[in-house]
Order: sequence, then structure tokens, then C-alpha cells
Amino acid sequence: MIRQKSNVIQSTGMANQSEPYYYECGNECTLFRHAYESRLPLLIKGPTGCGKTRFVEYMASELGRSLVTISCNEDTTVSDLLGRHLFIGGETRWVDGPVTRAVREGSILYLDEFAEARSDTLVAIHALSDHRRCLYLDRTGEELHAADGFMLVVTYNPGYQRSLKELKPSTRQRFVATTFDYPAEDKEIEIVCHESQVESAISKKLVKLVNRIRELKNLNLMEAPSTRLIIASGQLIARGFPARQAARAAISQSLSDDDEVLNALDQLIDLSL
Ligand code: ADP
Repeated sequence: MIRQKSNVIQSTGMANQSEPYYYECGNECTLFRHAYESRLPLLIKGPTGCGKTRFVEYMASELGRSLVTISCNEDTTVSDLLGRHLFIGGETRWVDGPVTRAVREGSILYLDEFAEARSDTLVAIHALSDHRRCLYLDRTGEELHAADGFMLVVTYNPGYQRSLKELKPSTRQRFVATTFDYPAEDKEIEIVCHESQVESAISKKLVKLVNRIRELKNLNLMEAPSTRLIIASGQLIARGFPARQAARAAISQSLSDDDEVLNALDQLIDLSL
């Protein structure tokens, strides 16, 4: 592991080009490590596009664990996750789903947008999120104990306006939790430079623009613009696309369909870039 600046962390690992880059924003890496070593499941709260997934990818790589990622939604069934009997080559065979594979292999199991999961999914993984670290497979009658190295990590976006999709206290209290937010300005500038390869002066302008938009509560945006959107504008600019057009395409158009809001955002873009 090399630390490029006080807080910038990038794994070098075993000459693996695809090791994730992650810029630590607080003490989240230490918390994750302690949770992992204490066999505690972790809940990461935070808005979309602020670095939660990248963080988990980075920590999995740091800990040398494989990562199984599942984006939860209402259509995903328990069988999709745990497994099912399939008719293969003239016989019926049990085929593990991704959760079961993670439990057997001792992977880090990352359930993104956990609050979107169906309630039967939450019930199915209940015993995995406490001291039992067990998965019951009704269909095969197996009781699986999670292999060493298994860790359950889930994310939840509390700002997302969906009252029905709150996590119940009985579920939340199974996890140690931490809250992520967009990185502080200097860190976000650095991240945007790294991820989009745009020059530092442009990255600074983009981040300042987005921080202004984040402060404008009267625009009634469903969600504030994410680090991901700044990186997308940076990528377009780095390829030679004009800066204002890039910010319109990657930031304003992603945030709203309302003409008045778009107009206000575009004016800010013209002032900032
Ligand atoms: P989330 O899972 O919170 O929706 P992501 O982890 O996908 O968001 O973050 C979006 C992008 O922002 C990432 O792909 C990465 O390029 C960048 N990013 C955000 N925060 C960081 C960080 N602290 N270090 C490195 N990259 C980051």
C-alpha cells in the first residue's frame, strides 16, 4: 500500500492494474478493518455517488477478500440470491446463488441499496447479520456457517425520499454504522483529477460549481449532484468537449427535467466555467 499524500491511499497489491484507487476521507478504513476483524456487519449510509461502493471495493482488495456485490431491488427474489434447483444435463441440481457463494467462500458480501430489498430477503439473511453468521437454505435443508473472512456490508441512502423504504430499527440495530457524505472540497478536487484526468484548475472549478449547487436548497432537487457527476463532466472535458457543454450534459441534465431549474443551473455553469 502506498500513501501518495497524507490521506490518499492506493493499493499496489500484486502488480494488479485494476486495484481500486480510494482517497480516505476520515477514519473509515480503520473502522472497516476493526469491524471485519470483530466479525461485525457494517451499514454505510450516504447519498448516491459519494464513494461508498469504491470504498468497499478498496477495502475488499486491501483485506485480500473477493467481493460479491448485489444491487438490491424489489424484483430480486430470495432464490435469485440464495440459489435454486435447476434441471441440468437430465438431472435436477442445486445451484448456489451469489449470497450462498459468498458465505461458502468467505467473501465480502456487499448489498447496495439494502432498503430496496424485499422483506423476505431481509428475513433470509437475518442470521448472517448477527453472531450466528449462518445461512439457512430451506430448499436443501443446509445450515451454512460463514467461512472465515466473510463480512456483510450494506448501504442505505437515508436522504432518498421514500418513506416506505426506511430500514426497520430491528434491522438497523444488527449493524455498526457510519455515514458518508461528499468528500471535502480539497479531497474532491483531487479525486476528480485522478478519476477524470482533467487538469487541476478545471477540477477545482467543477467542484466549486457543484458545491454551490449543493447549497441551493430552493432548487428542490431530488438529490444533490454527486462526485460521480463531477467526474463525468471532467471526463468529457478531458476528451476535449467544451467545459460548459460538458457540465450541462453531465450535471444539469442529470439533475432535473424542469426548465426553470435547468435554466438556473445553466446560469451557474456559465458563471463558474
Ligand atoms: P456510491 O456507491 O456512493 O453511489 P461510488 O462509490 O460509485 O458511489 O462513487 C462514484 C465515483 O466517485 C467512484 O466511481 C469514484 O470514481 C469516485 N469517488 C467518490 N469518492 C471517492 C474516494 N473517496 N476515493 C476515490 N474515488 C472516489
